[in-house]
Amino acid sequence: RGGYLPRERREIERMLRSGDIRAVVATNALELGIDIGSLDAVVMAGYPGTVASLWQRAGRAGRRQTSSLAVLVASSAPLDQYIVEHPEYFFGQSPEQAFINPDNAEILVNHLKCAAFELPVRDGEKFGPHETAVLCEFLSELGLVHHSAGAWHYTSDTYPADAVSLRAVTSDNFIVIDNTNEPRVIAEVSFPMALTALHEKAISLHEARQFQVERFDYDARKAYVRQVECDYFTDAIDYTQVKVLEEFDLRPLADASAHHGEVRVNRQVVGFKKVKLYTMENIGSGQLSMPEQEMHTTSFWLHFPAPFLERFPDLSPTERQNGLSGLGTALRTIAALLLMCDPRDLGVAMTEDLAAGLPAFEPNLYLFDAYPGGIGQSAPLFAGVERLLAGAADLIAACPCDSGCPSCVGPVGEIGERGKEAAGRFLAALQVKEG
Ligand SMILES: [Zn+2]
Repeated sequence: RGGYLPRERREIERMLRSGDIRAVVATNALELGIDIGSLDAVVMAGYPGTVASLWQRAGRAGRRQTSSLAVLVASSAPLDQYIVEHPEYFFGQSPEQAFINPDNAEILVNHLKCAAFELPVRDGEKFGPHETAVLCEFLSELGLVHHSAGAWHYTSDTYPADAVSLRAVTSDNFIVIDNTNEPRVIAEVSFPMALTALHEKAISLHEARQFQVERFDYDARKAYVRQVECDYFTDAIDYTQVKVLEEFDLRPLADASAHHGEVRVNRQVVGFKKVKLYTMENIGSGQLSMPEQEMHTTSFWLHFPAPFLERFPDLSPTERQNGLSGLGTALRTIAALLLMCDPRDLGVAMTEDLAAGLPAFEPNLYLFDAYPGGIGQSAPLFAGVERLLAGAADLIAACPCDSGCPSCVGPVGEIGERGKEAAGRFLAALQVKEG
């Protein structure tokens, strides 16, 4: 898994190549960037999230002339179920287009930092379409570059590319310290992941062993853990609020509408659930007060005005809410498929504007880019809204459950009464062409 320290990872790769170990159980750590040579078979536990990754993983097996085997064992996760119900999606399609936004300020600044390390940035020089003066000023405030003789020179003694992750926008990692015996560092975890996975009392896995987090030191970016044995894992509960800052575009969809734009997301982990292994029963919970995170990002959203919701007079207000949250779950699944991202790269939130004293319940359902500044996921969702809605409708209709399950709109215990039915009816209504 990603949290391995480099030397542990190199040792595993070496033993695999030399044949000292015959099999390795891994997460996507072995998917990219290394050549482990001669594996005969790959068994994938669950759909990796994208067509490209699935081919990549399957391709870890196979020597030049011999046959190889790749097996996908689907889990009950919605994407997995969608893939096994629609094998043509996988076999009939070229790997998805990946979306990345090179103009994201955080990504841009990091790239410029690396460029300045290679060669001084001359006054008036452009970086892509961007003027460099303001960006270089910013880097000089951080003490990384210095202006002299008409150019910005890199002066820091750190190698900037070391701090740039190819997989995450921020490079602020937490380290995990095992206090079971002598304290030792066992893992490094990215910032967004740390908030949900390393809170106090969280159960964290490392080398197939379970650890419980005893102390989470936010300021020092450290989590202290101790080895435990238990029959559950933990799942963070977060509370998310989204506020629209600027709307880029909108399109009507029957009485409702689709939008995309810039939003502010406030997110706080407020508690966690204990989920029993294998049966997935909820066996307890706890409250937490983690620091609130605020970020500006881009979002796609659907707006449901009163006339749209009034078309469903037999659904109670709670059942309408249930339908919208089920719809959010299904849309996120399909959006992740279309965007070639992990479902966790997208956040789902609903406005709770009832408190704001609106005369009617006119909610927004947001699918937002879960990275500061946005990495370009909302514009393609907006442009492809028909495909998104059709995919979600298909996912719900093809699912054999009665009233909701983890594979479609979410388990009935989470989304509540008539959530699946309402989500399906909302989707049908959104897809009706006017005129
Ligand atoms: Zn279902």
